[in-house]
Amino acid sequence: MCGIIGVENNENASVLASAGLLTLQHRGEESAGITVSGKEKMKTFKSMGLVSRIFNDEILLNKLPGTAAIGHVRYTTSSKSSLINAQPFQINCIHGNISVAHNGNITNFPQIKEMLLKKGAIFNHTSDTEILLHLIAMSKGSLANIVANSMRKLEGAFSLVILKDRTLIGARDENGFRPLVLGKIANSYIISSESSAVEVIGGKYIRDIKPGEIIMIENGRIKKSFLYKKPKKQNTCIFEQVYFSRSDSIVFGQTVKEARVKMGEYLAQQMKNIKADIVMPVPDTGYFAALGFSRASNILFENGFVRNHYVGRSFIKPSQTLRDLTASLKLRPIKEVVYGKEIVLIDDSIVRGTTSKRLINILKEVGVKKIHFALSCPPIISSCYYGIDTPSKEHLIAANNSIEEMRKYLSVDSLTFLTLDNLVKACSFSSKKDDVFCAACFTGKYPTKISKNTYKEDC
Ligand code: AMP
Repeated sequence: MCGIIGVENNENASVLASAGLLTLQHRGEESAGITVSGKEKMKTFKSMGLVSRIFNDEILLNKLPGTAAIGHVRYTTSSKSSLINAQPFQINCIHGNISVAHNGNITNFPQIKEMLLKKGAIFNHTSDTEILLHLIAMSKGSLANIVANSMRKLEGAFSLVILKDRTLIGARDENGFRPLVLGKIANSYIISSESSAVEVIGGKYIRDIKPGEIIMIENGRIKKSFLYKKPKKQNTCIFEQVYFSRSDSIVFGQTVKEARVKMGEYLAQQMKNIKADIVMPVPDTGYFAALGFSRASNILFENGFVRNHYVGRSFIKPSQTLRDLTASLKLRPIKEVVYGKEIVLIDDSIVRGTTSKRLINILKEVGVKKIHFALSCPPIISSCYYGIDTPSKEHLIAANNSIEEMRKYLSVDSLTFLTLDNLVKACSFSSKKDDVFCAACFTGKYPTKISKNTYKEDC
């Protein structure tokens, strides 16, 4: 998964981009980068690690002067995790300097790469995003045509920000798998993966970039906005609401917090026969679902974990001792809250099952009496090809075990998954049809053609 941001027509473009990236940090902790243009020659600075460690005042103010900027944070668990794949990717081609930052997964990457290699293209990265740069460099016509023609050749998931001189471009694939929003701060437009990044830097969310839309912005004005491909059907990723996006973001037109509260309310309906002393979340994503559950069930909401915010998602465990301590280091149960209690424990999802198993063990160590474990999504049975870094099927616990087998493995008194119907209801505005989401991770039904040649890389 990744997070992207673009800022234009602003003297503080790089500072705002870095603040935006800090807000999108949950979408990727592996590397971060910013490209600037509009003042001096286009420049990119990127490095491995967290945004706050990479971008200090010296770098932002002295090394990255510009009136337009794009930025990227990257997350992957793959072995291809290295600086070479950190984005944005800046190139110099027949059209001048162009830089691109991408969130998603281009599923026909191997086929296009093969075609480009035969034409003599040279590849520097192992990332799918690089093919877009080649396609752009080989296209002819106006900037709008170059981008549109290149995007028409791609399949899969791609929310993009592109920078050329003072022009900021935002674009979304025809299915709209990954979010991308348009915002404004004074005379500057912002494009971002999530609305929270627009708001944190003092801007206002305007609207979503539409599936299939390319929007071109320059000097504080929208120069052009058009559909490069007419979408047949929107397929926005429902897992954004379950896990990935920040709770204060508006994703696909709905506040994530609101969706998560509703997930909890529906879970409470599904579990109306369960009696418990308290309901408590696994921080942070389980928080609002537990709140919704508590309101709907009248079971007391309690915070029974302390989370160590210094242990990030990409926490590296150099020794076995530290690996064994990971669960305890990240989350520690508060004994006084859980001791002797029958609890409803709410988390967002089970992927491999290892995190939940460890959490349940440490809750038992401090004397919890009974655990009813509830998840705010259905069992994950299929891998994602559209940019969520889910492991292959053999590592997905729900793909290989029944709910009863998982309950026994986790050693809990009951195990409940939110049904897909209820998840869709929780994430839908009443005016929307139910078919606007991609839920392939729960159903195995992919909205685009998937074969053994389909590319799946983590981004
Ligand atoms: P596990 O079942 O041990 O693989 O971990 C599941 C937990 O990891 C969930 O409760 C989420 O909080 C988190 N999670 C879910 N999906 C992802 C993902 N694609 N990348 C990283 N963490 C995830």
